[in-house]
Amino acid sequence: MTLTNDKTDDKTVVRDYFNATGFDRWRRIYGDGDVNKVQLDIRKGHQKTVDTLLDWLKADGNLKDITCCDAGCGVGSLSIPLAQEGAKVYSSDISAKMVEEAQKRAEETLKGENVPTFEVKDLEELSGRYHTVICLDVLIHYPKEQVEGMIQHLSSLTESRLILSFAPKTPCYTLLKKVGEFFPGPSKTTRAYLHREADIVAILESSGWTIERRAMTKTQFYFSRMLEAVKTSD
Ligand code: SAH
Repeated sequence: MTLTNDKTDDKTVVRDYFNATGFDRWRRIYGDGDVNKVQLDIRKGHQKTVDTLLDWLKADGNLKDITCCDAGCGVGSLSIPLAQEGAKVYSSDISAKMVEEAQKRAEETLKGENVPTFEVKDLEELSGRYHTVICLDVLIHYPKEQVEGMIQHLSSLTESRLILSFAPKTPCYTLLKKVGEFFPGPSKTTRAYLHREADIVAILESSGWTIERRAMTKTQFYFSRMLEAVKTSD
């Protein structure tokens, strides 16, 4: 018999992970100190995703004029450079430890200049309206049914552009296995969910979005498909 996966439970597991072992692991991966080979590969892959996104946003030439919501901001790997580029950034994460670390890094790096507003919050509890809403490498922690509600909620906050990344589901089982290895050890695990691009696109389209730009970052142990969606014009 399969037990029903309660929504709150999924989030509790993820929150607890990113406040404990997950915090230690990801703070190091998303940092610049010594890490093992696998972690270094993941660090480089993730940085590529961040750099690709920053290139997209900078190319539009309007960062100083827009508000950005970084939902599931982690330690601020995206929020901080976005703020450096002059965007007004609103950053939040379900993990208090991640937010605390992000705030510390932002204050150190930005020296009081245009520091993002930080908040500990589940992305489905966010309110307000933002020109651009970004949710990077968060959806891997949730099953499809839950991702649908999350994307719909993020849509309701977005004025102009919604950018998401996820681990793409392909028939390649080795991929599945590798992603599983991101979270080793029984008590330390959160499940990794891969998502079909067609499913994500369908959710976005039914919320009134058109896909504008796509990117794929793939290293040995890191996989992330990124989609930029803009309002569908009539
Ligand atoms: N987006 C960041 C961090 C990715 S790690 C980056 O790319 O650098 C995934 C993050 O998502 C973790 O910090 C975790 O705490 C956060 N997260 C997971 N579920 C969340 C939820 N429901 N609401 C907000 N943040 C969430």
